[in-house]
Amino acid sequence: MVPLPARRALLAAVLGSAGRRRLPRHHAPAAARPSSGAGGEPEAEGSNRATALLRHLLLKLRATGPVTVAEYMREALTNPGQGYYTHRGAIGETGDFVTSPEISQVFGELIGIWYISEWIATGKPKAFQLVELGPGRGTLTDDILRVFNQLASLLSKCDVSIHLVEVSPKLSETQALMLTGGKVQSNPEDMSAYMKGVSKTGIPIFWYRDIQDVPPGYSFYLAHEFFDALPIHKFQRTEKGWREVLVDIDPEVPDQLQFVLSPSSTPATENFIQPEETRDHVEVCPEAGVIIQRLACRIEKDGGAALVADYGHDGTKTDTFRGFQNHKLHDVLRAPGTADLTADVDFSYLQKMAQGRTATLGPIKQREFLKNMGIDLRLQVLLQNSRDTATREQLLHSYDMLMNPKKMGDCFNFFALLPHHRLVHPDKKHKPESKSPLPPVAGFGELLLK
Ligand code: SAH
Repeated sequence: MVPLPARRALLAAVLGSAGRRRLPRHHAPAAARPSSGAGGEPEAEGSNRATALLRHLLLKLRATGPVTVAEYMREALTNPGQGYYTHRGAIGETGDFVTSPEISQVFGELIGIWYISEWIATGKPKAFQLVELGPGRGTLTDDILRVFNQLASLLSKCDVSIHLVEVSPKLSETQALMLTGGKVQSNPEDMSAYMKGVSKTGIPIFWYRDIQDVPPGYSFYLAHEFFDALPIHKFQRTEKGWREVLVDIDPEVPDQLQFVLSPSSTPATENFIQPEETRDHVEVCPEAGVIIQRLACRIEKDGGAALVADYGHDGTKTDTFRGFQNHKLHDVLRAPGTADLTADVDFSYLQKMAQGRTATLGPIKQREFLKNMGIDLRLQVLLQNSRDTATREQLLHSYDMLMNPKKMGDCFNFFALLPHHRLVHPDKKHKPESKSPLPPVAGFGELLLK
C-alpha cells in the first residue's frame, strides 16, 4: 500500500492540474430539476397530445385493466420503441433536465479521484472494472477517464476496463461518440456485451443492457441519477387498509389517464409495506432493491466499491413522483414518452437491501461529499488558470449549482457500498492494538489532501 502522504500528493497532483475538458460555456447552466413540492416552473405547454405510447397504453388498459405505477413508469421511460430514454433522452442544457456532471467537469474529476483513492487503499489490485449504471451522455465517465489518464504512470501496471450498463440505444450511441469518437463494434461475437470500443485514451469500453451481463471481477460501480429513473410502486393508506395506486383511463375525458386505487389489497401491498410504517403514502422501488442486492453480492465476492449519488431521503418522504420536460415540471400522466419521470431514492431501503453483505456509508449531502473531496482547492486552481471573466463567472456559477444547499448541495446524497474489511480490519478482533489503521474513505470523512 502507498503510504498516506504519497497518496495525498498523488491526489493533489490531479486537483492541481490545469486540465479542462472543453471550452467553457458562455452561458449559465440551466437549473437542475426542482424537488417535489418545490413548486418549480409552470408546466411545459402543448404536451397533451396522444403520443404513440399513450395510444399503446390506452389499448392495453382497455384490454386488460389498470396497471401499476411501476409498469406505467417502465413503459414511459424504457418502452423499446417509444420510451423517454429509448427515443428522446434529452439530458443537458438544451434538453429536459441537467445533471451535475453536465454542469461542471469538477464533479466527475472528484469522483475519479474517489475511485483511485479506494484502489490505493485496497492495495492497488492488478485490474479493475469501472461499471457505470445509466451513463446518460457519457460525460461522467469521460471526466473520470481524464483523471485516470492524468494518473497514467500510477495506473500503468493496472488493467483498467470500462463497462456501461445502458438500455437506451440512442444514449449508447451518444456515449460511444463522446468516449470513443464513434468507433465501436456492435454485437461482438462471444461476448455478453452488445457493443464495444476503445476510449480516446486507449481503455476498452463495453456496453450491456443488464448488470448481470457484466463479467465478474474486482469492480468499482457508479450510479449517478440512475436509481431515481427506476420504476416505483405507490401505496396509499385508506380506512380499509393499504391500497396500491394504479393508472387507468379517465372515464370522463377520452385519451386521458388518471390514478385510481386498487379495490383491495394486492400482493405488492402485502409484500412491500412494513407493518411499522407510519406514513400515509409510500413509494417503493423493488428494482432498485434487486440491483443493490446484486452489487452487494458482487462486491462481497470479488471486491471493489459502489458509489451511488441521487435525490433521496431516508424513508421519510411520501409523494415524490414527478416529470420534467424542457426543465419544467410536467404532469406524469400526460404525453408519456415525451418527459423524464423520476422519484426520490429511498436510501434507507437501499441500505436494507444490501442485507449486511457489504458495509454502507452515507447517505451524506452532496456539498459535504464534494467539500471532503477537495472541490474548493480544485475551483481555486481552475480560477487561477482561467484567462477571461466569463470563464471565471461560469466556474463560480457551476460551483454554486453543485454546492448551494438550496440548489443541488442538499437534495443530492452520496451513498457507498464497501467490503466490510475496508472499514474494519479483519485482524481487529484479534489485534485491537494494531498499528496500521485503515485509511479513511474519501468523501465520507476526513479529506486526504493537505
Ligand atoms: N448518469 C447520467 C444520466 C442519468 S439519466 C447523468 O447523471 O448525467 C438515467 C440514465 O439511466 C440514462 O442513461 C438512461 O437511459 C439509463 N437507464 C434508465 N433506466 C435504465 C435501466 N433500467 N437499465 C439501464 N439503464 C437505464
